[in-house]
Amino acid sequence: MCYYDNYQFACRDWKWGNFKMHCQKEFRTGETCGMKMIYQTIPLADKCTHCERIEKKKRRREKALSDIARWEREGGKFRASIEKAWEDVRGLEAEITAMVAEKDRRYATIGNTRRAA
Ligand SMILES: [Zn+2]
Repeated sequence: MCYYDNYQFACRDWKWGNFKMHCQKEFRTGETCGMKMIYQTIPLADKCTHCERIEKKKRRREKALSDIARWEREGGKFRASIEKAWEDVRGLEAEITAMVAEKDRRYATIGNTRRAA
């Protein structure tokens, strides 16, 4: 195992930073082994790109839903717009679900790594 910086995003997701230190096993060879351990955790003010992209989609979905609600109140005039907006919402739902699954899969692997004592 070798030690690396660990960046923590505002959304609690995280990523690896710079290599910091070899572990005992690898000191002699000067190589880094495959196992990563956390040297220190550095907090970041921003959310990760996954969460940013997911939130952007969620805002678009919210916008479409509020358009639908407004058009519904107007009566039958906006039937076509409403149908189109529902289509957008369904598309966005599918994209959001896929993106969340992708994010979970990505972070599940680093989430298993043990914190350095
Ligand atoms: Zn995130």
